[in-house]
Amino acid sequence: MSAPATRVVAIDGPAGTGKSSVSRRLADRVGAQYLDTGAMYRAASLAVLRAGIAPDDEDAVAEHVAGLSIDLRDVPGGTVVMLDGEDVSAAIRAEDVNAAVSAVAANARVREQMVDLQRQVAIGRFVVVEGRDIGTVVFPDAELKVFLTATPGARAQRRHRQNVAAGRESDLDQVLASVNRRDHLDSTRAASPLRRADDAVELDTSDLTLEQVLDGLTELVDRRIGVRR
Ligand code: C5P
Repeated sequence: MSAPATRVVAIDGPAGTGKSSVSRRLADRVGAQYLDTGAMYRAASLAVLRAGIAPDDEDAVAEHVAGLSIDLRDVPGGTVVMLDGEDVSAAIRAEDVNAAVSAVAANARVREQMVDLQRQVAIGRFVVVEGRDIGTVVFPDAELKVFLTATPGARAQRRHRQNVAAGRESDLDQVLASVNRRDHLDSTRAASPLRRADDAVELDTSDLTLEQVLDGLTELVDRRIGVRR
């Protein structure tokens, strides 16, 4: 019997475009698994901070991250992120991790390790994979590539609302500055910068509801892959 085919929907874009909500819900709708690759870089960054290593100390960061066990588990309503056996799902969303993650994610050796892990998870599965380099580097042959965009103001508003809903302290101006800083670092780094794949479908979500984005993407998945329910 032949092995089950790997089928990938790649969803890339900057912070606050609705990527996570869209990707998770889309995976549910089409019967795919959801893979949040940002959570992996966040878990690595949390470990780096806890070890007292400077996020831009390339060798120390790469060595430390190489010894970590990072595992994502799909549970109803979300993903549980395990770092060396500890549930760090909440801790990886803290502001100090936001501030450190782009430096850790710019580390070429860390990226190599994470990309290997992401490819392993997808083998033989139907997956919706969310990140920055999924369509360009991790899965260049993905069946469907989507690049989500939105204006900086719309992206900051979304992040701010998410923070408030989760009970985290939030200031809109600071959120906007943090989102812009992260996008700049992610787009200008040497290793796998954030960029739209040439064959990606680009969608500006600024004035669209989650349902509208989901309806559009579900139709695309249906056309390209055939929806499994
Ligand atoms: O998507 P999220 O905001 O959780 O991602 C956190 C950070 O992880 C991004 O700002 C980026 O620096 C990094 N990242 C990445 N490549 C990915 C996913 C996330 O560099 N595929």
